[in-house]
Amino acid sequence: MTLHVSSAFDGGAIDVLRCDAPDAIELAIRRDLRADGTASEFLQWFYFRVSGAAGRPLALRIVNAGSTTYPKGWEGYAAVASFDRRTWQRVPTQFDGEVMTIRPGVACDPLYLAYFEPYSWERHLDLLADAVARGAALRRLGASVQGRDVDALVIGTGARVVWIIARQHPGETMAEWFVEGLLDRLLDDADPLARELRRRATFYVVPNMNPDGSVLGNLRTNAAGANLNREWLAPSRETSPEVACVREAMHASGVDAFFDIHGDENLPYVFVAGCEMLPAFGERQRAEQLAFCEDFKRASPDFQTRHGYSPDKYRDELLKLASKYVGHTFGCLSLTLEMPFKDNADAPDPRTGWSAARSRQLGRALLDPLYGHLLRIETAR
Ligand code: ZN
Repeated sequence: MTLHVSSAFDGGAIDVLRCDAPDAIELAIRRDLRADGTASEFLQWFYFRVSGAAGRPLALRIVNAGSTTYPKGWEGYAAVASFDRRTWQRVPTQFDGEVMTIRPGVACDPLYLAYFEPYSWERHLDLLADAVARGAALRRLGASVQGRDVDALVIGTGARVVWIIARQHPGETMAEWFVEGLLDRLLDDADPLARELRRRATFYVVPNMNPDGSVLGNLRTNAAGANLNREWLAPSRETSPEVACVREAMHASGVDAFFDIHGDENLPYVFVAGCEMLPAFGERQRAEQLAFCEDFKRASPDFQTRHGYSPDKYRDELLKLASKYVGHTFGCLSLTLEMPFKDNADAPDPRTGWSAARSRQLGRALLDPLYGHLLRIETAR
């Protein structure tokens, strides 16, 4: 039984420095990769397997945690672990400012550890097929740098147009778990709200904007090293084709509401970033955004508006961001939704932290305020 740490699988990422004793494993988080094997600037995501340690207490030291892209992301954070990659739980994790030490207890064999519950490419393909079996139409919008399909699910027949995109930042897997819950409800024929939404609007849902980054095990970039959420002003056919094809489809369809789904490394809250800092943001947009947020709070106690980004966070690159570009171009409700990697500090669950299951529930809940928004814009116009 030889102790081993591996990450050569879908979404896997870690560098192994030392692996000769289960209670003294030394690892380093690796940088996001490009298709040619070179590294880009970001590093935060990890996902790996430990084998050959059955029944022995494990201690894993991630020696460069203090030098990652979001070192504050490790404060109050606990890693997730699983035996079967289906059920994940948080495990004791400490961060001293430089080294993060994960102590999952006595090891099962194998044991998987990750930054957040992974969402595999296989599961993504199953999600598409399941949605189509329940009435969605698949529309291939284009291809990623490495040639993976960039797909939208088209749902509903209404005149209003709603776009929902997820995983521009591929390591923010909670975004696709969120979409899974949203689709499950939106395609439910027994749910009267879902039926009304499909009658009033046409939904374009892109569950994974960054397939290559997802498979490569990247936190933020695609296979060309591009941070897709800085590409919306001038997407490139060569280095950000994922954004180019989705943006083109949005211009063809028009947009009445847009949601860009993300995870935030630092803040232990669910929140949105809106468009109030845009120069052309008017009273109508402000009223729509405020009303949506109030409705969302009632629909999900996990959502709040006290904690979030300050409006001047992206001063110089505003229109490079998806939700700002769309809010500016289409004058519609346009939000970046952020979920925590850690937990919701207003309603913590130390066993799971923020989780895939909670992300799915939030995705279901988004449909309530969205319904209110559609009713409001119908009576207003
Ligand atoms: Zn993000």
